[in-house]
Amino acid sequence: MKNLYKCFLLGLAILFCLHTQAQRNKCATMQVLEQRMKKDPSIQLRMQQSEIKTQKWISANRNAKKAQKLVSIPVVVHVIYNNATQNISTAQIQSQIDILNDDFGLLNSDSLDYSHPFWQYTADTEIEFCLATRDPNGKATSGITRTYTDSLSFAGDGYEKYTSTGGKDNWDPTKYLNLWVCDLSASNGTLGYASFPSDLDSNPDEDGVVINYTAFGNIGTATAPNDLGRTATHEVGHWLNLRHIWGDSTCGDDFVADTEPAEKDNYGCPIFPHNANSNCGSGADGEMYMNYMDYVDDTCMVMFTTDQGMRMHAALNVERAGLLTSLGCSISSTINEVLLENTFDIYPNPNNGNFIINAQLTKNEVVSITLYNLLGSKIQQYDNVSTYPFLMSLNDLPNGSYFIKFNNGNYTITKKVFISK
Ligand SMILES: [Zn+2]
Repeated sequence: MKNLYKCFLLGLAILFCLHTQAQRNKCATMQVLEQRMKKDPSIQLRMQQSEIKTQKWISANRNAKKAQKLVSIPVVVHVIYNNATQNISTAQIQSQIDILNDDFGLLNSDSLDYSHPFWQYTADTEIEFCLATRDPNGKATSGITRTYTDSLSFAGDGYEKYTSTGGKDNWDPTKYLNLWVCDLSASNGTLGYASFPSDLDSNPDEDGVVINYTAFGNIGTATAPNDLGRTATHEVGHWLNLRHIWGDSTCGDDFVADTEPAEKDNYGCPIFPHNANSNCGSGADGEMYMNYMDYVDDTCMVMFTTDQGMRMHAALNVERAGLLTSLGCSISSTINEVLLENTFDIYPNPNNGNFIINAQLTKNEVVSITLYNLLGSKIQQYDNVSTYPFLMSLNDLPNGSYFIKFNNGNYTITKKVFISK
């Protein structure tokens, strides 16, 4: 009996250790960042420069009306699976997109009650998400890729982000949020990790968010206590430049004004008020442990603040501005002609024959540009155009109206130009 009891205690201790260890590794964003900084110290400098730009944007726009204009972010979900269970259903993926929209839009049913002291800080961030409907080549898409992998699990070191290492290459990260879903069990309990916007230019291939398949969405393989899709809410927060609420050090700074100072990370579901009047300077209402950027259970995290929203919009305007003009959420083909009309810009028009063409296209999109006269006769054609601005020199042509047609094999857009010498 005695030995059995000892075994029981030992078992409990091991379970506790495993549980604690798993909890401590909930989000690997900062650990991954640290490892990357060791290899490339310039990351730190870029983050500092990014912070200066971020704070500048925030002070310039803090009082601007509509500074937080609604932004729709096209999402591509890359499912990397080794077995049928990991190949999660489309319904589960959609559940995650819905949760992101609820949480970022303050539409979550578990939001704080208006009588709660922190209710005044809760915010609709004016950021929404859609599964991409248009792929980088301008073709219609479900916004989901599915890749079989030989890897039994991933360790959170980026292998899932490359086709060559058993994962899937990301889509143009300036135009899409890439969300990989895979088995991260080799990473010692990590539920997810994200890249910061300051790293986009230098490491575009690494850009995006990785989530363990048991912590994605709220149906199917989603497992308690990470079964409400809040891992992705938290990681997309990082992807839009949010820091942990405790600033990743004792009483650290998260660069956000309206979150209470926090001593450290919180787990489970603390009781309000938690750690009130702390040495870090939290007030009588204690720490804002119910913020998505803490480590509490999914059922317990329910809010972003107004200033976190500002910080995310700063990221969208400073480093992720490509998303503001992304056509990833628009309908492919000729159906959405108004949007496509804005894809190409020709100027000055009219002029003496030197037209500059600019385009808002997704990465790798190749277009043919053809010039016709008013009678419909083809005058000139440029194939495989992919670099802009593109100069069309038509000095030899007589004055008058002409048509320029853009075609990518999927749609055709026609624009009229006028030569006047
Ligand atoms: Zn985190």
